[in-house]
Amino acid sequence: MTTGRFAPSPSGKMHLGNLFSFLMAWCSARAKGGEIVLRMEDLDPQRTSAEFAAQIRRDLLRFGLDWDREVPCQSVRTAAYDEAFARLAAMGLVYPCYCSRAEVHAASAPHLGESEYVYPGTCRNLTPAERAAKTRKPAWRLRVPAEEWTVRDGLQGDYTENLERDCGDFVIRRADGVYAYQLAVVVDDADNGVTEVVRGRDLLSSAPRQKYLFHLLGKPAPEYCHVPLLMAPDGRRLSKRDGDLDLDTLLQRLSPEQIIGSLAFAAGLLDRREPISARELAGIFDWNRVRKENISLTL
Ligand code: GLU
Repeated sequence: MTTGRFAPSPSGKMHLGNLFSFLMAWCSARAKGGEIVLRMEDLDPQRTSAEFAAQIRRDLLRFGLDWDREVPCQSVRTAAYDEAFARLAAMGLVYPCYCSRAEVHAASAPHLGESEYVYPGTCRNLTPAERAAKTRKPAWRLRVPAEEWTVRDGLQGDYTENLERDCGDFVIRRADGVYAYQLAVVVDDADNGVTEVVRGRDLLSSAPRQKYLFHLLGKPAPEYCHVPLLMAPDGRRLSKRDGDLDLDTLLQRLSPEQIIGSLAFAAGLLDRREPISARELAGIFDWNRVRKENISLTL
């Protein structure tokens, strides 16, 4: 049984790029007779809200993207993350990091263009005395090995990172106690029984470290399919800042079926741009037809 998921961050309204990823996730799971779980990724209480979560649920349903169950949102899952953190710590793989570079974004998924850098390991081997001399509250990092981890992506093919060289020890808990996206998403996907992760290609580089976390926690990793990003005709990535691509604005002049048809045509799933419902699209969905490269979209 395939279990796919929607994992939106309720930090803003849904935009066309999110809709495209959710459409691909939904069609892929439904085409196999699988189920979809909905999980609100509200790790960071400062940046997310129940109002945005409600709006995202409404928007998904307007496009016929339903789900079989909504699983607990991340803000109520601290005990599960505590347990995973303790297990990793017991393996000797977690250390406190006092570097001043604020890891404020660790609770959100690293999207394209957002700062991700390879941590040079400054705090990796501090002595107990050196740690005791620090006054700053530490963030917590996972020590990664100098090993290659390969993800067999269903759309993008094999993607490999040497964890130490390409990724570096990464934050799994911020100094303020908020768990990082990388840890939470793995614990949740494991506990929610997710077998298939379909999401934007900008998260492909998170997949090897997530696969490594699944391995450490003794859970099977899901299949991954990283779908292209939508770009404006001038080559910029579509983002929440493109107000004209706000779904409410689009729905004033286009029907959900017209929008889905344009997305499906741009993705390579339709030969012509024509209105289609999500359900009809699932009926003809074929990963072999979906483009790998980012998609330039005009509506
Ligand atoms: N909540 C994440 C986001 O907003 C998605 C993470 C994922 O799909 O793994 O991008």
